[in-house]
Amino acid sequence: MSRDGAERLIRDLTGLELHVTGTDGWDRAMVTRGGVRLKEVEPKTLESRLVKRLYFAGEVLDLDGPCGGYNLTWAMSSGVLAGKSAAERVTDGR
Ligand SMILES: Cc1cc2nc3c(=O)[nH]c(=O)nc-3n(C[C@H](O)[C@H](O)[C@H](O)COP(=O)(O)OP(=O)(O)OC[C@H]3O[C@@H](n4cnc5c(N)ncnc54)[C@H](O)[C@@H]3O)c2cc1C
Repeated sequence: MSRDGAERLIRDLTGLELHVTGTDGWDRAMVTRGGVRLKEVEPKTLESRLVKRLYFAGEVLDLDGPCGGYNLTWAMSSGVLAGKSAAERVTDGR
């Protein structure tokens, strides 16, 4: 490739502007954010700071990530944490 060609290619690739003109709507939506604010839950247990003995996990919390496994990982790992925290509270008798 000539130097001019390479420079044009770099210019085209780095100068490409994409304009979002719309979405595919709810039927094709993949990730939603929940209504429970993160500051309203204890990060180490996912217990509500407002309602004791209430635990949250997954999309019901106001958290999302890019597609590619982050949301599934969050759903599963937060489910494990919330479930374990609730079970520990029961076995502690609290
Ligand atoms: C088409 C699609 C593709 C996706 N692809 C990816 C991906 O590639 N990577 C990624 O990381 N994430 C992906 N996601 C997002 C990911 O699937 C979600 O973030 C994740 O499943 C959320 O888990 P959750 O347990 O919070 O909620 P959900 O999986 O929605 O589980 C909630 C459950 O609660 C049940 N429920 C609702 N109301 C009640 C009720 N009143 N009583 C009892 N049960 C109830 C529902 O039936 C459901 O089973 C995708 C989502 C969609 C829709």
